[in-house]
Amino acid sequence: MVHIAVIGGPMSAGKTTELSRRYQVAKIAHQHVVIIKPTTDDRSGASLGIRQENPQGEFVIVEKDPATLIQNQEELQKLLQEFEPELLIVDEAHFFKEWFCAYMRELSLRKDLDMRIVIAGLELDAWGNTFGFMPQLMAIADEVIKLTAVCMKCRKEGATMTQKKGGSHEQIEVGSKMYEARCKRCWTPPEN
Ligand SMILES: [Zn+2]
Repeated sequence: MVHIAVIGGPMSAGKTTELSRRYQVAKIAHQHVVIIKPTTDDRSGASLGIRQENPQGEFVIVEKDPATLIQNQEELQKLLQEFEPELLIVDEAHFFKEWFCAYMRELSLRKDLDMRIVIAGLELDAWGNTFGFMPQLMAIADEVIKLTAVCMKCRKEGATMTQKKGGSHEQIEVGSKMYEARCKRCWTPPEN
């Protein structure tokens, strides 16, 4: 059977850290693991990019655990056939297009496969609208985990929103310095 877990939450909620933890556990258990990310995210290249606060109080991306950048279903199918992973880890899933969701649904119904799939992504964009196919992925998942962050304005726990600080008006914008986690009280939508 295929078991799909989806991890949602705002920026800095620890989604990628959770993926990395699961990767390390599976490696210790000598499991075949494949990590993938969509090619549209060039923010942190072909690895899990974990945001960490440095001594200066700035958030920097620390590169961890090798990932394969995936553009389409053919590439992903080929990868799965080649490595036969017991665990498939997917980061930045909000950037994947409809094909990815359809393929995950197809995999979720396969009886001949034994695989766990863990998918992480932003559920909401900076405008507070649902992001990409995250709602659909959550619907087909066997398990949904929603993480929250610390609000970077009032420093209270339980932040669910991603605040955009300046920049252009693209939904997809790379560069994490432009975003931070906020609670609903402190969050304001971008002007357009
Ligand atoms: Zn707040």
